[in-house]
Amino acid sequence: MCLICDRIDMIKNGTNPYFVRELETGYVVIGDNQHFYGYSLFLYKNHDKTELFQLDMPERIKFMEEMSIVAEAASRAFGPEKMNYELLGMGDAHLHWHLYPRRKGDIEDYGNKGVGPVWSYPLEKIYADSNRPSEEELKKMKAALKTELDKLI
Ligand SMILES: [Zn+2]
Repeated sequence: MCLICDRIDMIKNGTNPYFVRELETGYVVIGDNQHFYGYSLFLYKNHDKTELFQLDMPERIKFMEEMSIVAEAASRAFGPEKMNYELLGMGDAHLHWHLYPRRKGDIEDYGNKGVGPVWSYPLEKIYADSNRPSEEELKKMKAALKTELDKLI
């Protein structure tokens, strides 16, 4: 089973606490861990294709367009210096964008003196339980992101 399909099932059942908003090609969620404050994901609706280039062109363009809108909304909501966009899929092949708001010093001196990708930072720090938002923080973050998304769509 796929973790992302599980999370999407939870969205459909109304039991995913991270869910922000449904778009045409995917679902917007707040990340479980918030070392990079405002970290959000855009999950493609289906698991039938696992490469961007497998989507037919109108669908591919729509998915990219919506991802960039989510990134813009996250940037407005969480005020980073720069957004990072990643579509990886070695852990979960299900198409999903990681949208990372970045700020100077957020990976300390790791990764080419602090300017590298988020993955330069030790995973145990990224995924530390202390980085999980409280229920109250999560509520605020979801509202902030949804407000900005609603303005852009
Ligand atoms: Zn899946």
